[in-house]
Amino acid sequence: MSPKAPITQDVMTIPRKLPEGKVNLVGLTRDQLRAALIDHGTPEKQAKMRTGQIWQWIYQWGKRDFAEMTNLAKAYRAQLAEHFVIEIPEVVTRQVSEDGTRKYLCRIAGGHEVEVVYIPEDDRGTLCISSQVGCTLTCSFCHTGTQKLVRNLTAAEIVGQVMMARDDLDEWPTPGAPKDETRLLSNIVLMGMGEPLYNFENVRDAMKIAMDPEGISLSRRRITLSTSGVVPEIARTAEEIGCLLAISFHATTDETRDVLVPINKRWNIEELLGVLASYPNVSNSERITFEYVMLDGVNDSDDDAHRLIDHIKRHKIPAKINLIPFNEWPGAPYKRSSNNRIRAFANIIYQAGYASPIRKTRGEDIMAACGQLKSATERARKSRKQIAAEAGLDGS
Ligand code: SAH
Ligand code: SF4
Repeated sequence: MSPKAPITQDVMTIPRKLPEGKVNLVGLTRDQLRAALIDHGTPEKQAKMRTGQIWQWIYQWGKRDFAEMTNLAKAYRAQLAEHFVIEIPEVVTRQVSEDGTRKYLCRIAGGHEVEVVYIPEDDRGTLCISSQVGCTLTCSFCHTGTQKLVRNLTAAEIVGQVMMARDDLDEWPTPGAPKDETRLLSNIVLMGMGEPLYNFENVRDAMKIAMDPEGISLSRRRITLSTSGVVPEIARTAEEIGCLLAISFHATTDETRDVLVPINKRWNIEELLGVLASYPNVSNSERITFEYVMLDGVNDSDDDAHRLIDHIKRHKIPAKINLIPFNEWPGAPYKRSSNNRIRAFANIIYQAGYASPIRKTRGEDIMAACGQLKSATERARKSRKQIAAEAGLDGS
């Protein structure tokens, strides 16, 4: 066994077969979709064309009912409905923040729940999606980290979050209507619950579907994967997904990072920086985002700011540093740095020639801000009714 094996990596079998024996077509790659069609009676000669048609219905037009796939023969539609379903996570509650941020609690197979957050801005709309129920890592400032991993999400459940949000935003185009370029949902960040690089294949397949030009069609530059630093999977992310990368950096010495982001004990700062320096897409237009949570008296000194710059310069990494004011959660062992401290820290970085935006806290009133997500089952069970009542929803 490699001494550098991930701390804990729970890879679960994908429950493709649904209880009634039907196969969910959502989340299948094009090749898998083609194979599924052939398996269930589509003649091989036709399979490529049918795959393209069905793909478009599902991902371009957002259809869930085979009966609506009007360019397929009626008998064939009925045959499809016999064997397949088109299923995405079900919305349990939807809360809308004062600032327009929407937080969805979604139910997935097995009764588990994940949170998805939509953040509207002037020039874009970003969907923050989850890759696991809970997280096996235990970053000490993260609420999700206090919840044990329950399971990895399937590719269907990951891309299904995007489809669910498009449903809610009413953003599926109508066949035949003129192309509308305005996109309410224009960006995806894998910054919800879970460590996406501990669920690599499912995240990859889901993002490939989101990028496919004959479907949801988001550019790879509009997808950002955030990782706490699973070093062996970072090069693979560049090769097999090709999206932008964000790193939960958060500390400038191994001593502090070991505590804040314990995966650092497995792959330390130097090993992480080494692999980032060679992230194939790194160029000035595709900088790596260093996420840095501002914790009062822990990682926010002037010396930290200088060390951070030194790390990045030494490894010549085109970078921007995203400063995240710590979002408190019940029982959190840290406090947010003062605004003055955050500004002073940002200024040192800026003076050194790097962009250092301070992330605006969004959706805090509905616990939708970074690191406040902890679904699940636990909290939701206790207070789902209450949450729904507060948001003026009926909770169904
Ligand atoms: N597991 C991945 C992605 C999910 S976390 C990762 O760690 O990168 C998304 C971002 O929110 C990470 O940068 C994470 O460090 C940050 N975060 C977690 N808890 C936070 C909190 N309480 N306040 C602010 N940011 C937090
Ligand atoms: Fe997991 Fe990311 Fe939270 Fe760390 S910060 S516990 S890796 S979700």
